[in-house]
Amino acid sequence: MKIGITSTIPVEIVYAAGHTPCDLNNIFISANNPEQLIRRAENAGFPRTTCAWIKGIYGVLLEEKIDTVIIVSGGDCSNSIALGEVLVDDGKHIIPFSYPLQPDVAEMEMAITKLTQELGADPSRTYNCKEQLDPIRTKLAELDRLTWQENRVTGAENLLYLVSSSDFNGNPKQFSQQLNQFIDQASAREPLQRKIRLGLAGVPPILSNIFNVIDNLDATVVFNEVPRQFALPWAARSSLAEQYTRYTYPYQVERRLEDIEKACKERQLDGLIHYTQSFCFRQIEDILFKRRLKIPTLTLEADQPGLVDGRTLTRIETFIEMLA
Ligand code: SF4
Repeated sequence: MKIGITSTIPVEIVYAAGHTPCDLNNIFISANNPEQLIRRAENAGFPRTTCAWIKGIYGVLLEEKIDTVIIVSGGDCSNSIALGEVLVDDGKHIIPFSYPLQPDVAEMEMAITKLTQELGADPSRTYNCKEQLDPIRTKLAELDRLTWQENRVTGAENLLYLVSSSDFNGNPKQFSQQLNQFIDQASAREPLQRKIRLGLAGVPPILSNIFNVIDNLDATVVFNEVPRQFALPWAARSSLAEQYTRYTYPYQVERRLEDIEKACKERQLDGLIHYTQSFCFRQIEDILFKRRLKIPTLTLEADQPGLVDGRTLTRIETFIEMLA
C-alpha cells in the first residue's frame, strides 16, 4: 500500500511493514502545475493565508489515490494537525507520529514502537530495513561532501538528492543505483569555480529557479541545512532511535543553530540565506537566526511556487555583491 507522509518520519518502519512511503511534499513541488494543486485546496476551503506546502499536500491527496497518511503531529507543524483533521473527515486513514518534546532516546524508542505497532511491522524487519537504508544515507553524506569539499555538485543537485531521502522515491534500490551513478559522474567532473560560498537554511524553498539565480551571480550553495537533516547522514553509526534523536528539525531552534554554526566554519561559508515560507510559524525563528549567527544572513520569504520575483532577485544580488 502507498502511504503518504507529510514530513520526515522513521521511514524504515513503513518499508518494514511492506508499504511504500511517498513524501507528499515532493509530489506537490514536482507536479506539472503545483499552483493548480494549491487552487484545489483553496476551492475546498483552505484559507489564502495558509502555507502553500499544506495546501499543496491537500491538493495532491485530492488527485492521487492515497488513502493512508502518516501525519507528523508533534515536532513539525501545527498546520499538519488541522490538515489531518480535515483528512479524517474526508475519509482518509490518518496515522499520527509525534517526535518527543525533547531529543531523548528513550522517548524516541517509545514513539518508534507506537508507529511499529500501528503499521503492524515486525521489529526485526525494521532492523533489516535500517541496514539496507543506512548505506544509502552514507552515500548521501558522500554526495554532500562532494558538494562542499570538492565543489563538484551544485546546490540544486544536492537539494534534490537530499530531500528525496525522506521516502527514497518509494524504491530504495533504484534510488541507490541512481545515486551511485550520479556520484560516479560528479566525482569525474571539474570542480565548480565560484567566488561566493553560501548556505541555505530553512525549509526547502518553493522557488524553482533560486539555485540558478545564485549560480548566475558567481555564487554557489554548499550547505542545504534542512534537506541535509532529512537525509540523516549519520545513521550508520546509531540505533534507529538515536538516528532520529540527532535529527535537529523537530526540536528547539537552538540545536539547528548549533548545526548551522558548525557548517559555517567547516564549509567556509561567506554568507547564509535563511529561507522562510509565508505564513509559517518558523518565520518567528528568524529573530534568533539574526541574534545568534555571526555570519552575514539574508532572510528571504516566498509564498507561491514559481520563479524568483524582481524584488527578491535584487535582494539576492545586493547580498552577494556585499559579500564579494
Ligand atoms: S513551511 Fe512551515 S507552515 Fe508550511 S508545512 Fe512547513 S513547517 Fe508547516
